[in-house]
Amino acid sequence: MTGLSDSFQRPIDYLRISVTDRCNLRCIYCMPAEGIDLLRHDDILSYEEIYRVAATAAELGIKKIRITGGEPLVRIGLSRLVQMLAQIDTIDDIALTTNGTLLARYAEELKAAGLRRVNISLDTLKADKFKQITRGGDLADVLASIGAAGVAGLKPIKINMVVMAGINDDEVLDFARKTVADGWHVRFIEHMPLNREMAATSFISVNELKERLAVLGELEPCTFKGNGPAKYYRLPRAEGTIGFITPISDHFCFRCNRLRLTADGKLRPCLLSEQEIDLRQPLRQGVSAEELKKLIKKAVDSKPRKHKLAEGLVPRDRPFSQVGG
Ligand code: SAM
Ligand code: SF4
Repeated sequence: MTGLSDSFQRPIDYLRISVTDRCNLRCIYCMPAEGIDLLRHDDILSYEEIYRVAATAAELGIKKIRITGGEPLVRIGLSRLVQMLAQIDTIDDIALTTNGTLLARYAEELKAAGLRRVNISLDTLKADKFKQITRGGDLADVLASIGAAGVAGLKPIKINMVVMAGINDDEVLDFARKTVADGWHVRFIEHMPLNREMAATSFISVNELKERLAVLGELEPCTFKGNGPAKYYRLPRAEGTIGFITPISDHFCFRCNRLRLTADGKLRPCLLSEQEIDLRQPLRQGVSAEELKKLIKKAVDSKPRKHKLAEGLVPRDRPFSQVGG
């Protein structure tokens, strides 16, 4: 097999890069209200360092990159990083995951820099609930960003909704209707229990969601562009799609194709395992190209077979906002 593959023969061709641990929101399922201890400026990889890791990973077989955070658009000059990454010949897809609060401002310049498409996290269509879930955000900013991303051609735009029983599950049908009325591509994500108290009460499985969606018509399985684990369907007459991401009820580890780079330069083979390989110190001590490749391969080789969420084992070392979700 050419390219990278791990010790379970999974091809690894996708790198998720967290460019910051900072965020302008405090979503209830992701961050505590008071925020987290932030990394120091010097601890964060520079764009040049991120580029070096990405270019070396691309030589090994990485073909797709997603930029995430924290909120990636709070980092100054993100378009410059996109432009640098777009110079890597063998990278054929650069995407961004964002909370959408700042995207309207940057959509055109990101597109010009080489960004292909965006995923926008949005858990409610109600302004007061949006404020509550994000602890202070303004829904209007996100809706404006969805419009601006469309105008800029950052397509397909995928809308990611973390479904929480008793919090926003009453809006699942409204989101699904958007796939018909406005051609949205909506993905329902099972809530991962990083916050034990919340998870005990708020988990709702995708099977239950499908049962509820049945009132809107039959869900027709379909394929849709993406590098991730979602399974896609279409409602009758819908231009948009409905995706389900099921880390709990139907884990997709057996086809996991990704590596993660944290904002402070650790390669993380699995979102849900605390294991990491440091690249920052080697990068700052002048690591050779060959040594850097060895470290990347070591991270790939150490990918665990599967996560242990179902057994209640959740990583305690970092919140999702530091690993990129
Ligand atoms: N700030 C950006 C955003 O919100 O899109 C990017 C980073 S965020 C950590 C990436 C994704 O992780 C978001 O779609 C968010 O909804 C998801 N996420 C965070 N915590 C989660 C949890 N406990 N369960 C499921 N998804 C979660
Ligand atoms: Fe910030 Fe994204 Fe986490 Fe919400 S999900 S707190 S927007 S990093």
